[in-house]
Amino acid sequence: MPVIESEEHKALRTAVSALGHKYGRAYFTRTVEEDRPATELWAEAAKLGYLGVNLPEEHGGGGGGISELSIVLEELGAAGCPLLLMVVSPAICGTVIARFGTEEQKRAWLPALADGTRTMAFGITEPDAGSNSHRITTTARRDPATGDWILTGRKVFVSGVDIADATLIVGRTEDARTGRLKPCLFIVPRDTPGFQRHRIDMELNAAEKQFELVLDDVRLPADALVGDEDAGLLQLFAGLNPERIMTAAFAIGMGRFALARAVEYARDRTVWKAPIGSHQAIAHPLAQAHIDLELARLMMQKAAHLYDAGDDIGAGEAANMAKYAAAEACVKAVDQAVHTLGGNGLTREFGLAQLITAARVSRIAPVSREMILNYVSHQTLGLPKSY
Ligand SMILES: Cc1cc2nc3c(=O)[nH]c(=O)nc-3n(C[C@H](O)[C@H](O)[C@H](O)COP(=O)(O)OP(=O)(O)OC[C@H]3O[C@@H](n4cnc5c(N)ncnc54)[C@H](O)[C@@H]3O)c2cc1C
Repeated sequence: MPVIESEEHKALRTAVSALGHKYGRAYFTRTVEEDRPATELWAEAAKLGYLGVNLPEEHGGGGGGISELSIVLEELGAAGCPLLLMVVSPAICGTVIARFGTEEQKRAWLPALADGTRTMAFGITEPDAGSNSHRITTTARRDPATGDWILTGRKVFVSGVDIADATLIVGRTEDARTGRLKPCLFIVPRDTPGFQRHRIDMELNAAEKQFELVLDDVRLPADALVGDEDAGLLQLFAGLNPERIMTAAFAIGMGRFALARAVEYARDRTVWKAPIGSHQAIAHPLAQAHIDLELARLMMQKAAHLYDAGDDIGAGEAANMAKYAAAEACVKAVDQAVHTLGGNGLTREFGLAQLITAARVSRIAPVSREMILNYVSHQTLGLPKSY
C-alpha cells in the first residue's frame, strides 16, 4: 500500500475540494434551513463522476474503489458540505449490487446511482436489536403461489428514506434445512404498499432525516432479493465495510472543517497583545486535533486499500479501527474548535455548535465506539466476550 497519496488521488482531492468550496457551508446550511436535501450539489457531484467513482465502468461508474469514494466524501465534508447519503447510496448499496446483484439489478440501479438520478437508502437497525444486528427479526417469507417475497418487521433510524427511490432492507429468510434465520437483502421501492415511514425528530442539523419504518406484509417480486439467499453474512459485510470506511471519511471531513474554522479564528482573535492562537493552551490542542485526524486518515486509507484489493477480512478489522479513530478525532476536533471560539463557538453565525451533535453521530453509527472496542478485544486480541 502506497503511504504517499498518488498523483491521481491528489488531483481528485483538489477537484472535489474546489466543488465543495464552490457550494460551501452557507449553501449547505441554507438547504437544512429549507428542510431539503442538497440536490444541486448531489447532481453536480454526480455529473462530474464523483458519486459513482467506485462503481464499475461498464455500469456507468468510474471504475475506482472505496479509496476514491472516501476522498470525495472527505473533501466535501472538509468544505462544509458532507453528503451523508454517499455513505449509503453508492458505498453500501452500489457495492452490494455491483458485487452480488443480478445483471438486471446492475442495469437498473448502478448507472442511476452513479449519475445521481436515483438513490438508495439502507436499513438494518431495529428497535429491539440495536447494536446486536444478529437479533434482527424483519422476516421475509415466500408466497408459494406467486414466488413473491413478503416482508414484515420494523426498522429505526434509517436515513434518507423519504428522498431515496428505494431502501435496501436487511431481513431474514428461513433456512429450509435448519429452520434458522439467515440475513438477506431486499430492494424495497419507496412507495411499495405496506412500507410505512415515520420521521424521527432528531436534534441534528442535517439535510438527511432519519425514519422509523414499518414493513407490514410488504409484497415484493422474486427479483427484489439481492444476491444469493444462502450467502448470508458475506454479502452483508461487503456493504458494511464500505459503510465504516465512508463514515470515517465523513468524520475526518467534518473534523477538518471545524479545525480550519478554529485555526482561522485563533490566528486573528486578539484579546491581549497577541492572537489567541499564540497561546499554547489554544494552539496545542488544535495541533493534537490535526495529528489525530491525519492518523485516522492513514487508517482509513489502509482500510480502503484492503477493501479495494479484495481482502474483506483484513478490511473488516481496519475499517472498524478507522471508523473508531476518525470518530474520536472528529469529536475532539469539534469540541476544541467550539472552545477556541469562546462565546462565538456557540453562536449560529459561526456555525460550529451544531457540529457538536453531528460529530457524535460518527461515534454512534453505523456501529458504536463500544462495539468496535468489543470487536478489537475479541477478534484482534482474543479476549473473552462478556455478552
Ligand atoms: C444520525 C443517525 C443516522 C443513522 N442512519 C442509519 C441508517 O441509515 N440505517 C440504519 O440501519 N441505521 C442507521 N442508524 C442507526 C445506528 O446504526 C444505530 O444507532 C447504532 O447501530 C446503535 O444502535 P442503537 O442506537 O440501537 O444503540 P444500542 O445498541 O441500544 O446501544 C446503546 C449504547 O449501549 C452500548 N452497547 C450496546 N451493546 C454493548 C455491548 N455489548 N458492550 C458495550 N456497550 C454496548 C452502545 O455502544 C451504545 O453506547 C443511524 C443512527 C443515527 C444516530
